[in-house]
Amino acid sequence: MSAPRTTAPGSQLIETPERRALRRAVADLGARFGSTYYLAKARAGEPADELWAEAGKAGYLGVNLPAEYGGGGGGIGDLAIVLEELGTAGCPLLLLIVSPAICGTVIARYGTEEQKRQWLPGLADGSRRMAFGITEPDAGSNSHRISTVARRDGEDWLLTGRKVFVSGIDHADAVLFVARTEDARTGKLKPALFVVPRETPGFEYRPIPMELVAPERQFQVFLDDVRLPAEALVGDENAGLLQLFAGLNPERIMTAAFSLGLARQALGKAVEYARTRTVWSTPIGAHQGLAHPLAQCAVEIELARLMTQKAALLYDAGEDAAAGEAANMAKYAAGEAAARTVDQAVQTLGGNGLTQEYGLGALLAATRVGRVAPVSREMVLNYVAQHTLGLPKSY
Ligand SMILES: Cc1cc2nc3c(=O)[nH]c(=O)nc-3n(C[C@H](O)[C@H](O)[C@H](O)COP(=O)(O)OP(=O)(O)OC[C@H]3O[C@@H](n4cnc5c(N)ncnc54)[C@H](O)[C@@H]3O)c2cc1C
Repeated sequence: MSAPRTTAPGSQLIETPERRALRRAVADLGARFGSTYYLAKARAGEPADELWAEAGKAGYLGVNLPAEYGGGGGGIGDLAIVLEELGTAGCPLLLLIVSPAICGTVIARYGTEEQKRQWLPGLADGSRRMAFGITEPDAGSNSHRISTVARRDGEDWLLTGRKVFVSGIDHADAVLFVARTEDARTGKLKPALFVVPRETPGFEYRPIPMELVAPERQFQVFLDDVRLPAEALVGDENAGLLQLFAGLNPERIMTAAFSLGLARQALGKAVEYARTRTVWSTPIGAHQGLAHPLAQCAVEIELARLMTQKAALLYDAGEDAAAGEAANMAKYAAGEAAARTVDQAVQTLGGNGLTQEYGLGALLAATRVGRVAPVSREMVLNYVAQHTLGLPKSY
């Protein structure tokens, strides 16, 4: 029997030699840590600092950021490879979606020269981290309803509001918050983005007890007249939506990569187990009741990977509108593939599917992340129904 693979051949026609080399190098790094390291860190409530530091030193965390600010000069397609391969190796670092992908991209595209110098080198080498807060308790999926307000006070800004589910604040140097400027009374979203250092007076955060087994925690945030200097504003206060989407499309592509990593990790473990576990006369993988669902997962993973590559290609080519549709579709497809694959993997391992030794049970909750965040599967389907199919809006 040949060694099991969890992706189809032919990727050499689709990815450059540099990207294939990046995949191999990141996979090697991930294998040195693996799910045993990741889960031990998560269960101890500690960040995966050793892996983060090594990935930063090797240039993987900032592979998408401009070379002149310490990054690798690549695109979101490169960073998606990093997250997918780390996840496949058992270490799906959620903060990659936030720190270099959303925050790094927004600052690189719209930040001032000073902001770029201040943040990008640290985000690129991993010595600094930035979280991202848009979700609010009373707005949820409807980010047009966010009510965190930024008011001018002389040269300064005063930020007031609440956020929920902000990942990784406890190990971040700052948070990029989405607020709306006070004069936006039209009811239309007019977001403005602010970098808020974690220790700023008036900024409080409390962990939300979650059922996820992950080194990153989620927090609720209280912003009470948080005083910020004029330089805290990222980009133009009147061009918020465009700037926001510069960060949200990479977020969707990266969430797809996160789901793909989980899916490939689970499929790899399931296939390995099914090839060797024998309870009748043949390995359990010979039974089509197990083999076909696993084969179906392999097909769905491969399709979702292709869509993710397409979305990244469009985004990196500057085709923001087309990238938006593709990023939504990729996030949806990868989230569904991951949920199905992890479910099937747990089933394939029988009782071992739920032991800590095999680390698959923990992925059951993790796969929900890709279905709920940053935009839920239902909201993606709404988007496709309206924008792709031209159907009327129901909400
Ligand atoms: C692990 C994790 C990490 C996260 N990290 C961050 C972070 O770092 N920063 C951040 O800002 N946010 C973060 N989030 C928040 C995440 O983006 C939100 O949970 C998500 O946007 C959904 O919002 P909600 O939870 O308020 O759900 P709701 O908006 O309340 O939705 C609840 C349900 O209703 C459905 N629904 C709502 N409207 C419609 C509609 N019109 N049609 C059909 N169905 C609908 C949704 O699909 C969903 O199933 C994180 C969430 C999780 C779980």
